[in-house]
Amino acid sequence: MNILNTWQLENTYADLPRQFYTRINPTPVNKPNLIIYNKELSNLIDIDLPDDKELLAQLFSGNKLPEKAKPISQAYAGHQFGHFSILGDGRAHLIGEQISANGKRYDIQFKGSGQTPYSRNGDGRAALAPMLREYIISEAMYALNIPTTRSLAVVSTGESIMRSSLMKGAILTRVASSHIRVGTFEYASKMLDSEALKNLADYAIKRHYPELTNQENPYLSFLKAVISQQAKLIASWMHVGFIHGVMNTDNMTISGETIDYGPCAFIDIFSMNKVFSSIDQNGRYEYGSQAHVAHWNLTKLAESLLPLLHENMDDALKLAEVSISGFAKEFNSAWISGMRSKLGLFNEEEDDYVLAQNLFKWMETAKADFTSTFRDLSYERLSENEIYKSPDFKKWYEVWQQRLLRNSKTTKSALILMRKHNPVIVPYNHFVEEALLAAENGDMKPFNSLLAALLNPFTLSASNESFQQSTIQPNPNYQTFCGT
Ligand code: AMP
Ligand code: MG
Repeated sequence: MNILNTWQLENTYADLPRQFYTRINPTPVNKPNLIIYNKELSNLIDIDLPDDKELLAQLFSGNKLPEKAKPISQAYAGHQFGHFSILGDGRAHLIGEQISANGKRYDIQFKGSGQTPYSRNGDGRAALAPMLREYIISEAMYALNIPTTRSLAVVSTGESIMRSSLMKGAILTRVASSHIRVGTFEYASKMLDSEALKNLADYAIKRHYPELTNQENPYLSFLKAVISQQAKLIASWMHVGFIHGVMNTDNMTISGETIDYGPCAFIDIFSMNKVFSSIDQNGRYEYGSQAHVAHWNLTKLAESLLPLLHENMDDALKLAEVSISGFAKEFNSAWISGMRSKLGLFNEEEDDYVLAQNLFKWMETAKADFTSTFRDLSYERLSENEIYKSPDFKKWYEVWQQRLLRNSKTTKSALILMRKHNPVIVPYNHFVEEALLAAENGDMKPFNSLLAALLNPFTLSASNESFQQSTIQPNPNYQTFCGT
C-alpha cells in the first residue's frame, strides 16, 4: 500500500484570497518516532494506514507528505487577554482537508511542525508533554460528548527544544472541522478589505452553516448561529468543570468546537473563581467567568462582521447588539437544561435554577470535588464521604429529594438520566501529570491506561476505579503552563 495516496485531501481554504494563508511545508525532523496513533479516529475519517510505526512516524512528522497535501499556515489575529495582536499559525501547518467516505470535511493540521512567516520569535516547535496533554484531554472531551478538535497522532522529533529547560520535541496531528477562529474574522476586518471579509464569511457559512446561505441576511444568521453554538459549548464545559484557561479570541472557533488545549484543566475542589493557568494572573479566564468571556469574544466577532450586517453602520450596530444580547439567554437555557439532566430532573420548575446554584454554593463552602459530588449523587454513594453528613448538605439534599417527588418520571429513570450526564471520571490533574511524566521518560503505559479509562467516562467500572478522585487528595496549588 502506498500510504501517501490513501488520503482524500482537498485544499479549499487556499481558494480564499492570498492574505489568508502562506504556502509552506513542515520542516523535516531528525529522527521521528511514533508515540501514539488514534486508529479509531483514523477509521472515522477514512484514512487507511498500515500498522507500520516507521512509516507512520515519517507521515505524522511531516517528513513525508501525502500526495495531495498542499500545506499552508493560516493567518489570523486575536485578542490575547484583552489585547489585540496579529498572530497566525506560528508552529502549525494545515496539510489539507480530508474528505471522509460520507462526505464530511476535516482539517488535518500538524502542530509543532516548524517555523512559518507567523512565528514571530517562536521556534515553531512544540514539546512532547504538552502535545500529549492536548491529545489526552481533547480525546477525553470527545468522550464526554463535548464538541472538540481531536488528536490523530503524536510523534517525537528526536530533537530537543529549549523551554524552561531542554525538552523533547514533538508534533501533534490535530483534526478539526475547521480552524476558522473568531480571530480569523478580526484579521480580515482589521487588515484586509471588505471583499476579503465577505469571502471569508461566505466560506465559513458554506462550510459550517450551509443551511443559512439562502437566508435573507446570511451574515446576521451566521453571527447568531456562532453565538448559539458557543453558548452551548461553554455550558457543556461548565457541566463537567472544564476550565479552558486561555480563551483568547484566536482560541475560539466559529464551528463551536473547543480548540487549543494549552493550560486547560478540570476543576477538582470546587470554586467559581478557580484558575489553574500560571499566566492568568488576574483570573480573567477563571471557571465562573467563562460565559462572560465568551460573550466578550463574540462581540469581537460581531464588530468584525459589521460591514456585512447592513450597509448603514447604525443599523448594522443595532443588529449586532440584538444578536449579542441573545447570548445570555442561550447560555442560561443550555446551562439549566444540562443541570436538570445532571440532577435527574425531567420536567421544568422555575426553582430548578436556585436548586442547582445552591448545590454549587455548598460545594464551594464544603470544598467538595466537582466530579465526585455529581457521581456520588448519581450512584447513591453519599455514605462514603463525611462531607455529606454536614447539615448544609442535608438541607440541600432534602429540597432535591422533594423536587424529585414532583418529577414527571420515576426515581429509577432519574438515576439513569444522571448517570448519562455525570461522568465518573475526568482527566484529573495529578493522573494526567503522572502519565505525562512517565511518557517523557519513555513509558507510555500509564498514559495508555488513563486514556482507555477516559474514553469510557460514563461507566462505573473496576478499570476506572483507580482514576476516580476520591483516591488522592488534589493539590490546591496545582498550576498549568502554556508549554509553548
Ligand atoms: P497559543 O497560545 O497556543 O494559542 O498561541 C498563540 C500564538 O503564538 C499563535 O499564533 C501560535 O502559533 C504562536 N506560537 C505559540 N508557540 C509558538 C512557537 N513555539 N513558535 C512559534 N509560534 C508559536
Ligand atoms: Mg492558539
